[in-house]
Amino acid sequence: MTNKRKMITFGPVPSRRLGQSLGINNIPPKICTYSCIYCQLGRTNNKRVQREMFYKIKDIKHAVEKKIKEARRQNETIDYLTFVSDGEPTLDINLGKEIEILKTLDIRIAVITNSSILWKKDVRDDLSNADCVSVKIDTVNKEIWKEINRPHQSLDINKILLGINEFSQDFNGELITETMVIKDMNNKIRDLERIADFIERLNSKKSYISVPTRPPAEKWAIQASEFDINVAYQVFKERGLDTEYLIEYEGNDFAYTGNVEEDLLSITSVHPMREKSVNNFLLKSKANWSIIEKLIKEDKLVEVKYRNKKFYIRKL
Ligand code: SF4
Repeated sequence: MTNKRKMITFGPVPSRRLGQSLGINNIPPKICTYSCIYCQLGRTNNKRVQREMFYKIKDIKHAVEKKIKEARRQNETIDYLTFVSDGEPTLDINLGKEIEILKTLDIRIAVITNSSILWKKDVRDDLSNADCVSVKIDTVNKEIWKEINRPHQSLDINKILLGINEFSQDFNGELITETMVIKDMNNKIRDLERIADFIERLNSKKSYISVPTRPPAEKWAIQASEFDINVAYQVFKERGLDTEYLIEYEGNDFAYTGNVEEDLLSITSVHPMREKSVNNFLLKSKANWSIIEKLIKEDKLVEVKYRNKKFYIRKL
């Protein structure tokens, strides 16, 4: 039992999306509907779409309660209990009941899903009690979807997109989206525009753009360039989407520390900065452009152009 409980929960770990997040791993590795080329858990040998029970609800509850106690003993705060699994969390047939029971602990609940079975009403119902749901939307193009996400053969992207749409209309919590941008896959402007057009119709609070930062299942799943992710950002922003990067950066993502270099790197790891914003920032910080040249020379910052404007972005 102890081992099982250890496997079920982890953290709390700092998460840009969710603050201090206590992870709930309600799926044994690696049970998934997809076998994404960028998956950090490797390939999925046995893809499935049928929901089933993996752990007893009471074991999940005990594991979470134990972790919360431990965290509190260490004076650690927990902002979210997050279902983020070594597989697809909605494959757990008890997910709805687990959310209902964990709600009594008075901590917000989040679920990070690949959205592939949101077309099932029981899955949408199960997620409806969560406070935050993050849905994966890497593409809306069938061919690209098959190449990137390598879905279970019974899945249909049009059904999935309808499911996401339907869920977003009924969901009262915070809906966020995540799009992984991969070189030579979904990084063309037309594809990014179609993704942004789709997301624009959802009631999403925030849209994250990410790139693979850990060893992917396939060596050739390479992160898109700084140029591409700037284009993705601009295309999303043009649709009025509140967009941020979700790229790993060890620095402080939000705070102004007073250290000009650190602050520039922190900001540009969340979103690109226009030349004008950089100038304003330098002016406020009583610094000059030589800092930018130095960061570019040190390979920490990259200058990219979009529609004849210069942007600065953290080197991936
Ligand atoms: S959906 Fe998540 S767990 Fe499943 S293969 Fe893709 S990245 Fe891996």
